[in-house]
Amino acid sequence: MADVAKRLSTNIDGNFFVDATCINRDTCRQLAPKSFVENGEYSSVYRQPETESERYQAYQALLACPVGSIGALVPDKAVMRAATESFPMLIEDNVFYNGFNSEKSFGANSYFIRHPEGNWLVDAPRYMKKLVDAFERMGGIAYIFLTHEDDIGDAPRYAKHFRAKRVIHRADADAQPDAEWIIDGLDVVEASPDFRIIPVPGHTDGSMALLYRNCYLFTGDHMAWDREINGLRLAPIGGEAASVSIRVDPSGSRRPHAPACCTDARGAATSARAPRGQGVPFGLLRTPR
Ligand code: SF4
Repeated sequence: MADVAKRLSTNIDGNFFVDATCINRDTCRQLAPKSFVENGEYSSVYRQPETESERYQAYQALLACPVGSIGALVPDKAVMRAATESFPMLIEDNVFYNGFNSEKSFGANSYFIRHPEGNWLVDAPRYMKKLVDAFERMGGIAYIFLTHEDDIGDAPRYAKHFRAKRVIHRADADAQPDAEWIIDGLDVVEASPDFRIIPVPGHTDGSMALLYRNCYLFTGDHMAWDREINGLRLAPIGGEAASVSIRVDPSGSRRPHAPACCTDARGAATSARAPRGQGVPFGLLRTPR
């Protein structure tokens, strides 16, 4: 719960504010860019939400904030309830952003993919009954894909509840030694016709990306859409900007390729852009249509 006594002076006056517990993980700026902005080492409210939709987005940010740093002096319970119900939030097709980012995974975004052969959770949000119920309504969770050791969140609790298989790379497996599916080596793994697991060592030795239907690339911290440069940004490695990434061709082979990009259904490199819709979640790219 945000503490008004810790309200940052960088906030504009008004109902919403960010307090000094903010860990600057960007969630609010992705979900409610018309209200929140980066300000030094924190986020702050630069413009109070005015329209119904802006207020709704500000409450989504408040709920998704991994450390509860966002407060509202006069809470609107009805809008808060509606914002709560908005998670998991459909991005498009059957891909959802879960909200309720976890402090345990440094505020990383997590996603849910609804699939007839078993649903996938990509990294894990906070363990919350609201999400558990929603996942149950959508058929449960068969696999929990862990992009790397930092973004485990509450994966063990979700795995236990849904009897899901956690997928992690051997090089990061110390973070989940009892994971049900350990990926070895650097070869692409065809988990099923729709899911390819792509080891992408760099940010961590065991970083992996998940390519879904040759369209959606879940990248963890390997690379992300950067709003400032309006392009892709690779995770720094050892303090240096990374310059090598991966490319997938139809045979599934993996080879160094720079600059990084998604691939289309034919395996050709193509530019990628962030998903459409409100908010621009990090860690997910999709090919243009
Ligand atoms: S979501 Fe919370 S922790 Fe992240 S930048 Fe916004 S206020 Fe700070």
